[in-house]
Amino acid sequence: QPALAVESVGLQIGGARILADVSFSVPAGEMVGVIGPNGAGKTTLFNLISGVLKPTAGSIAINGQDVTGVPVHRRAKAGLGRTFQTSSLFPGLTVLENVRLCAQARLGGSFSVLRFPGAGDAATRTARENIEEVGLTAKSSVAAGDLSHGDKRKVEIAMLLAGDPALILLDEPMAGVASGDVPALSAIIRRMHRDRGCTVMMVEHHMDVVLGLVDRVAVMHHGSLLAIDTPDAVMADPTVQSAYLGEPV
Ligand code: ADP
Ligand code: MG
Ligand code: MG
Repeated sequence: QPALAVESVGLQIGGARILADVSFSVPAGEMVGVIGPNGAGKTTLFNLISGVLKPTAGSIAINGQDVTGVPVHRRAKAGLGRTFQTSSLFPGLTVLENVRLCAQARLGGSFSVLRFPGAGDAATRTARENIEEVGLTAKSSVAAGDLSHGDKRKVEIAMLLAGDPALILLDEPMAGVASGDVPALSAIIRRMHRDRGCTVMMVEHHMDVVLGLVDRVAVMHHGSLLAIDTPDAVMADPTVQSAYLGEPV
């Protein structure tokens, strides 16, 4: 069974058709890039998969389990994790505190940074491992708000990893990141996919990044899925070419 199955999903809000008849499935372990112009419905698709929004038509299954209408936190328990287009950090907390909150949410126990226990507890150990995984060990006691955009994105990925997800949705992970930080972030995403075996969907405008990482590309346009295929096939598709070619490489 696929890691993710989206079946005839539509979303209508107040008479406006935001998404129409979107169907695709993603086998476990695959990485899929999602491209398309602004307003195409990419983030909306992620909101539907993660349960932030409920579809007005169709169904969504994770690992063969129907999650249509299932709330966000129960999808996290089913192994779904995501990052957001805009930053989701607590800027006044340190890198370690931010990641530790996510580890705590998964491991259970009291949900507090005021009572910050010693380095020996399970959540702190997990958080330190995830911070090491994204190469930020030296900055673990720095306030997250003081980091560069690139490092903030790395912290967000460490927070994601602390939830130990099997299916990951990344919404523009390179947005606002200095070009010098792009290769490091790409490498972190590749490791998440290859070493952890995560299934990944990634919205990204940097076409060179997308094409270098993914197995398949999904093209969204005006709330529809125009194509989902290998990068070569998608780039050669005349329908895609006339609708959207992505940002120049
Ligand atoms: P993308 O991520 O591809 O840039 P979005 O998914 O953010 O596009 O938006 C798709 C379209 O849906 C846009 O026209 C946006 O204005 C609209 N939209 C998204 N969410 C809502 C909402 N909650 N209410 C009304 N319109 C929405
Ligand atoms: Mg956008
Ligand atoms: Mg978006």
